[in-house]
Amino acid sequence: MNFSNKRRDFLKNSAFSLLALGASSKLLSSNFAFAKEYNHHTEGTDNVGTGKFVLPKLKYGFADLEPYIDTLTMQIHYGKHHQAYVDNLNKAIPNTKFANLGLEETLKSLSGDKSENAVRNNAGGHYNHTFFWDILTKKQKSKTATGKLLSQINKDFGSVDKFITEFDNAAKTRFGSGWAWLIWDKQENKLKVGSTANQDNPLMPISELKGEPIIGLDVWEHAYYLKYQNRRPEYVNAFWNVIDWDHISQKFEKL
Ligand code: MN
Repeated sequence: MNFSNKRRDFLKNSAFSLLALGASSKLLSSNFAFAKEYNHHTEGTDNVGTGKFVLPKLKYGFADLEPYIDTLTMQIHYGKHHQAYVDNLNKAIPNTKFANLGLEETLKSLSGDKSENAVRNNAGGHYNHTFFWDILTKKQKSKTATGKLLSQINKDFGSVDKFITEFDNAAKTRFGSGWAWLIWDKQENKLKVGSTANQDNPLMPISELKGEPIIGLDVWEHAYYLKYQNRRPEYVNAFWNVIDWDHISQKFEKL
């Protein structure tokens, strides 16, 4: 083995050791202490009308979704990935037709023209992640849907188990990056399961799946790779342990 091979092996092993250490290490966690600051600097509401979008405040700590969603993934996903969508959205909207619109109005105003791609990706990214954090909980009370949502799931899918099987299938089979969804189709008065590519969202008129989002699951690799690597199905199964059925069911009552 020549020197450069040895050096490469050393670097590779070091990287693996650091990664292995990462999940529980205080040393590495301290590098992500920055993420805590976001909770102080944001109030959780977008400043509609000014085009100044901000990270929403989380209802739980980065470690609270363990072991289903690991701390390091939460720190990077929220503090780096979501922050980047917010920053890039704020850069993309000045001097466009979206400049004075709120987030949902922005999604609903997309035409699909290539010139709007930065807004499409980053407004979608901001909405989808904000929606995702909101439907997760550290302390799951109900283990299933309640009230009107439970009745509607039973009506449209046969049972909650059958709905979950269908949702899981949409999440596991979405090729590449995207989102799995449960949506409410107002025209048909029906719940539907499907998926969207990249950061597309069911509120976008250009989305392949259209309706009011009820449940959304991020299936981009950045959402699960540190803990689950290529095992997306394990991550999808774990998701049901941290989903806030009470909150989702209450939101559905108000639709
Ligand atoms: Mn994501």
